[in-house]
Amino acid sequence: MSDSLDIFFDAHLHAMSISHPNFAAFMHEIESNFSEEVVSGMFSPNYLLNYKGSTAFLARVQNLMAVVERSIGEIFILMEQDLSTRFDQFPSWSLLPKSSEKRPYDPFIADGHFHFRSRTYDRIGLCPMIMDFTQIEQIDHGVYTHTHSEDRLITYIDDTLEGIDYYRRISPHGIFEFFPFMGINPAAHDLSFIKDLIATYMITDLDERKRCSVPLPGSKRFCFGIKLYPPLGFDPWPKDDEQEMEKVRYLYDYCIRHRIPITTHCDDQGFRTIGAKRAWEFSAPRTWEHVLREYPDLIIDFAHFGKQYRPVSQMASKAQNLLMPARLMTQVSENNWFTGIIDLMLNYEHVYADFSFSGCTAAFYKQLIEYIENLSEEEQRIIISRSMFGSDFFVNLSKIDSYSHFFKLYELSSFSDDQIHRMASENVRSWLQLDQACLMTQQE
Ligand SMILES: [Zn+2]
Repeated sequence: MSDSLDIFFDAHLHAMSISHPNFAAFMHEIESNFSEEVVSGMFSPNYLLNYKGSTAFLARVQNLMAVVERSIGEIFILMEQDLSTRFDQFPSWSLLPKSSEKRPYDPFIADGHFHFRSRTYDRIGLCPMIMDFTQIEQIDHGVYTHTHSEDRLITYIDDTLEGIDYYRRISPHGIFEFFPFMGINPAAHDLSFIKDLIATYMITDLDERKRCSVPLPGSKRFCFGIKLYPPLGFDPWPKDDEQEMEKVRYLYDYCIRHRIPITTHCDDQGFRTIGAKRAWEFSAPRTWEHVLREYPDLIIDFAHFGKQYRPVSQMASKAQNLLMPARLMTQVSENNWFTGIIDLMLNYEHVYADFSFSGCTAAFYKQLIEYIENLSEEEQRIIISRSMFGSDFFVNLSKIDSYSHFFKLYELSSFSDDQIHRMASENVRSWLQLDQACLMTQQE
């Protein structure tokens, strides 16, 4: 039995086809809140355009579109091929540092194993995040814009299950194991739909968890966690609305009872169907503090480590080094999502954060390491045991060359070998509650 399976995890990625997201709702939001979008940072140069020139940007968009025109199963195959191939920096506009040996980088997957720094792993554990794009109110000013439909979500979940199945058929000795997260926006559904959805797709039983999302015959239970996405209109603590409170309480109670992890989007950009200000209010770590006060045992990952791109927050973090009146200082630190997450980690035992998307630049790891080094030993221990490697593939292709490129930036960071291993393996295992489960796989 393989309780010794050594797994390197990507704790946060997306596999979806062009038909899954709700572009109509996204465009509607930009159109109706254009002036707010301009100041929101969506067009700020350090969010997407961290390379020079529009040609590079278009090349990246083409690269990204070439992924989403595939089916989910084909995307998994593409990711495996990517990690199995020698790679170099793309032409002039790539931000991938040149290999010091003056030849392309060696592939991460070789001889049926995954190689990273000094270690060899048996498997790569993927946590695909399914997104619930169901709209609360449908916009119908286009002839072809969708009506409110819960089918969109069901199709996307079923396509993910089918995609995993496809991968296993095409690549029977493949290196990927799957730990999918089911997206749900409680605000867009009634409670009975939420209950049905959870009962149909969530794995709660430890024995089933060991099966690495190969559902039992006749069952569709293949999801290990729940993905929440406030910028699609989800308020984590709708305290003035009894009906909405009932839904979120049901969800948090359920997750605690069955030790099910949650990932919540936490940077100030990304796909958004509500105005930026509301999206920020719903996403902010301090909003989650209300939830955690009542549900301190919730297992929750703050995606993207709370990175903020909007110009105001950039100014605020620079201002921290200057002499500022106390009142302003408080405002600045209240609005700093990164330190907000750190505080939650120090106060609550099951709070995690991941590097997805934010790790597209070497500067992110550098700043994180410098920040950690200035903390007490105990604080360092806590943060290093709750940080997780995640990529945000394919969304991250707006900023990097390839899946391998994202892995390489992590490998080149100045984390120690031991820290690299903990954040990509041990921490994700404990977040997924796999400590006790020895994993079975298709190949045994
Ligand atoms: Zn994401």
